[in-house]
Amino acid sequence: MVKVKNKDESLNRNGTLIINDNSGKVMLNLVVIKSQMYLVAVKDVSIGISLSRNPTMVQQCIDENKLMEIKRKQRTYDNTPTNVIIAYAKDETIFINLKLNDKIYSCEPWIFRPPQCGKCGIMGHKIIECEKISQTCLRCNEDGHQAKNCKKNLKCILCSRRHVSYSKSCLTIKNELKKCNKTYFKMD
Ligand SMILES: [Zn+2]
Ligand SMILES: [Zn+2]
Ligand SMILES: [Zn+2]
Repeated sequence: MVKVKNKDESLNRNGTLIINDNSGKVMLNLVVIKSQMYLVAVKDVSIGISLSRNPTMVQQCIDENKLMEIKRKQRTYDNTPTNVIIAYAKDETIFINLKLNDKIYSCEPWIFRPPQCGKCGIMGHKIIECEKISQTCLRCNEDGHQAKNCKKNLKCILCSRRHVSYSKSCLTIKNELKKCNKTYFKMD
């Protein structure tokens, strides 16, 4: 006879299912493959609310909202905290709201933006990883000058249309966002 020792939290948070025998010895340790995860941004959460210094508050928030994890978003360039919290959920109800520290916050889908190189304009790597020697202008797609000094016609490096290479209206960028954020976009 085996006993399934599995609290809901341990399944959700670690993604594991542990089966013990009667003596308590672990017979089987299964990893549950997470099929889908929803990332939401919770905005305007005061920096004064420290997640690392309030583990009880974090645990309560995770339990009450049936989350896997919450993290404070940090600025990419200097790792300083922002007023945004990213919540990882397995359930779509997270899109309604989130309760943290006795306050209700509204949630919105977290859109992950893949890196785009500021030197060559290509997506998928950053400047420090770039193999190109000279700077490509992110406004006109010509080499040897920077976008801030550019007086030429706009030409996107990614799609050749008339906008800057980091434009929100660029279809190539939109498609990259779709690929990384399948959950939030209706795929055509
Ligand atoms: Zn590059
Ligand atoms: Zn230029
Ligand atoms: Zn474009």
